[in-house]
Amino acid sequence: MIHSETSQWIPVTNPATQELIAQLPCATEAEVNRAVAAAKAAFDSWKEVPVGERARLMLRYQALLKEHHDDIATLLSRDTGKTFEDAKGDVWRGIEVVEHACNIASLSMGETVENVARKVDCYSYSQPLGVCVGITPFNFPAMIPLWMFPMAIACGNTFVLKPSEQDPLTPMRLAELFKEAGAPDGLLQVVHGGKEVVDQLLVHPDTPAISFVGSVAVAQHIYRTGTHHMKRVQAFAGAKNHMVIMPDAQKQQVISNLVGSSVGACGQRCMAISVAVFVGSANEWIPELRDAMAKVQPGAWDDANAGFGPLINPQARERVLRLIEEGKAAGAECLLDGSHCRVDGYPDGNWLGPTLFRKVTTEMSIYREEIFGPVLVTLEVGSLEEAIGLVNANPYGNGTSIFTASGAAARKYQHEIQVGNVGINVPIPVPLPFFSFTGWRKSFCGDQHAYGKQAVRFYTETKTITARWFEDDIAAGPNMSIHLK
Ligand code: NAD
Repeated sequence: MIHSETSQWIPVTNPATQELIAQLPCATEAEVNRAVAAAKAAFDSWKEVPVGERARLMLRYQALLKEHHDDIATLLSRDTGKTFEDAKGDVWRGIEVVEHACNIASLSMGETVENVARKVDCYSYSQPLGVCVGITPFNFPAMIPLWMFPMAIACGNTFVLKPSEQDPLTPMRLAELFKEAGAPDGLLQVVHGGKEVVDQLLVHPDTPAISFVGSVAVAQHIYRTGTHHMKRVQAFAGAKNHMVIMPDAQKQQVISNLVGSSVGACGQRCMAISVAVFVGSANEWIPELRDAMAKVQPGAWDDANAGFGPLINPQARERVLRLIEEGKAAGAECLLDGSHCRVDGYPDGNWLGPTLFRKVTTEMSIYREEIFGPVLVTLEVGSLEEAIGLVNANPYGNGTSIFTASGAAARKYQHEIQVGNVGINVPIPVPLPFFSFTGWRKSFCGDQHAYGKQAVRFYTETKTITARWFEDDIAAGPNMSIHLK
């Protein structure tokens, strides 16, 4: 670790109290260059390290993360305001990706075909790219960095991580533990800062691959700038996730899943359900949904009765309050209004209570914009076809779910819906790491997604070898065609 010589510092605060937790240095241009250079130097030796040894580093890292699981979750709760239970989930879903990275040998196997021509064999290898960059958001400070650097490094790359400036303590702890697991110097670099640091990494000649997770506007900037500089980029962006509720679904299952998936983590999940679409008579459950949502209240991270924590900062709270007011002004019916929520003992927290709207139309800003707060909007339609049309007309495509007892309805939904992660009676269908996290449309820029086999394709280049070994010296003369004989 080096101490920055910067003159720019960002205060990191506890969102439940506004207490100052840390002062974050924005890395200077020279420090960013130094981090990339160190990662580049480490790549020269790391790319030659046998695959089993790379896997063993991940095995040791997985064990250490498990050993420190609760400490990391405690730090994460302080940094983000998440409840302890939710923070543990954030850490655990990251550990699962490290477990996946332990399988790197079988994941990165190439292809072979013998005798593509007489005595000619063809085979392919996956080779690492160099220094990969990861830029991560505030809302999953353990899981999302762990989506990226373990897979990239297991593939033989080195990595520069630029975590969110809003809650950098957890990513720093992840990096310390990685070093403790035996990562050689330079393998993983962490640099702090905002746009300036990101922009430097995006145009740096020694960073061939960029992974990003965050909001739509920034994802598009990252994708445009990175690809303009001839890098490969995967950029995961914002969302507006719909749950479609059929009248044959189980009412209690629908209500409890809707409450958890809409206001859990204060709605600050890219896979939160923020739109509920009731088909036909399922709309009769809306009053009960309101009562169930009203029972869940925010609180401090160590309050076992708290359903969720605060918003990340006062500006985020102001933004959500503005959207709630816009919804009311546009004529939506606010069945439950969390705008004035307070939490005893925490007068300065960025609190917002569960908020529920009915009679929402697709023109309203509460429907069009990603709110990223504990706000659920409901729409009512007459048929499954109408629900599918509605979801497909929305520009986002991160996640969606359908609740139904009908296999035929579920099959139709999974087939016709233009969204990349689909749940059937599962509200937040984040795939486990042996699959990939496959957001679509406005929720993703790029082609290869996070973790799973797609991460190996993203973090490696395929080399295909065509080989002939002569058994005897054949002087057949030059082959003037492209055809292999
Ligand atoms: P954000 O876009 O504000 O910030 C993400 C990262 O980009 C941070 O590291 C930040 O420092 C950097 N950044 C911010 N502005 C920048 C700029 N102008 N130029 C260059 N870099 C910049 O996102 P956030 O508020 O931290 O996270 C919330 C967003 O992330 C939500 O939209 C959420 O849906 C999305 N998200 C998406 C996924 C997914 O998998 N699709 C997962 C988690 C979060």
